[in-house]
Amino acid sequence: MVMTQRIAVLGATGSIGDSTLAILAAQPQHYEVYALSGYQHLDKLLALCKQFLPKRVSVPTAAVDDFAQRLGAAGLDIDVVGGAEGLVDIATDSQTDTVVAAIVGAAGLPSTLAAARAGKRILLANKEALVMAGKVMINAVKTHHATLLPLDSEHNAIFQCLPFSIQQDHSQIHELSHGVRKLWLTASGGPFLQKSFAQMQQASVTEAVKHPNWSMGQKISVDSATMMNKGLELIEACHLFDLPENKINVVIHPQSIIHSMVEYSDGSFLAQLGSPDMKTPIAHALSYPNRIDSGSQPLDLFALSALEFVEPDLQKFACLSLARQAMQAGTQATIVLNAANEIAVSAFLEGHIRLTDIADINEQALNDIQLPPLSDTADIEDILAIDKIARHLTDKLVAKLA
Ligand code: NAD
Ligand code: MG
Repeated sequence: MVMTQRIAVLGATGSIGDSTLAILAAQPQHYEVYALSGYQHLDKLLALCKQFLPKRVSVPTAAVDDFAQRLGAAGLDIDVVGGAEGLVDIATDSQTDTVVAAIVGAAGLPSTLAAARAGKRILLANKEALVMAGKVMINAVKTHHATLLPLDSEHNAIFQCLPFSIQQDHSQIHELSHGVRKLWLTASGGPFLQKSFAQMQQASVTEAVKHPNWSMGQKISVDSATMMNKGLELIEACHLFDLPENKINVVIHPQSIIHSMVEYSDGSFLAQLGSPDMKTPIAHALSYPNRIDSGSQPLDLFALSALEFVEPDLQKFACLSLARQAMQAGTQATIVLNAANEIAVSAFLEGHIRLTDIADINEQALNDIQLPPLSDTADIEDILAIDKIARHLTDKLVAKLA
């Protein structure tokens, strides 16, 4: 008998949700969509409920009654839960085997951590959870024998390029035993790679979210334009692979064909290549250690004219340096950076500040909010307390500029 994996897709109405559900729809013999969550676009969530017939669904608290009524009117018997508790409830449900953590931002942390503490198999897209709570998350995964598989294309590529023994235990990476010298995160450089800083300063929201290679949610698209995304990914990689930031290099590779690399001490560079389509890393993690058809377009090697590599301009993309600085300073600083960035990105999307103000605000928040290092026993409450302080002070920084 073939076992089906019961999947909870948290953030089902987003871009990662779309890619995940496309794979699940094509592979019903392997996967059951057990639960879904959505925050905005509840019409879309309703359509997904009709298509996938999950047993449970989570919506914002204020929408629970109305959504339950709409499901009832459609003749669907689905348990509706609400708010942050609803997400945790679904993530820790004894019937859930796998949690796809695809909520954007800090809002994804409590449910992702709860899934780790419930020993689930976690497919992690929500990089902000690791930026805020990397140590707590990784400890929870180890203590509760959870499985953490990266969906972020770069981290998924690195995971695939590491020896099987390290895939099983990431805290084992060191040069002497496995010869891993460095990790190389590739970055597309985003829509402003060929533009001047002055052009970037004048960028409209439409220009900023128009990524050359990937189609993604609004927040990560803005993060790609400022390269804060690569900064967050650098911090994510430090936690996932238990390495200091100076063992992780960033290289701009505008074609987004090589999704990242591992450099070994004998001079070998192992890379993972593919079309820029999130269905590939998602399918990898869903079926790991096996392989399934992701439905992505196979890479046409003959159509590629060149693979280029460029050093990032740290003046133009100051967010990248801020991430290294925060990682060196400690978790309290990475929480501040993440929170400040979320606030600044929202302010940009709402038209209150310029794209280039985001880096300035992030830098000022890091400088202004000087906190003592978090203790080793710090838990999610301590992390959320810092997050709250940082959001409050960043709101003021934004108000000054707007
Ligand atoms: P998105 O904006 O398209 O979707 C976000 C999802 O989160 C939606 O389902 C939304 O309803 C839900 N959500 C938003 N705010 C919420 C809240 N306060 N509470 C509960 N749910 C909430 O974003 P996305 O592009 O799918 O990205 C999701 C995550 O995956 C992000 O952390 C992003 O960095 C990461 N990621 C995305 C991609 C990509 O290609 N899209 C690639 C790598 C990593
Ligand atoms: Mg990525």
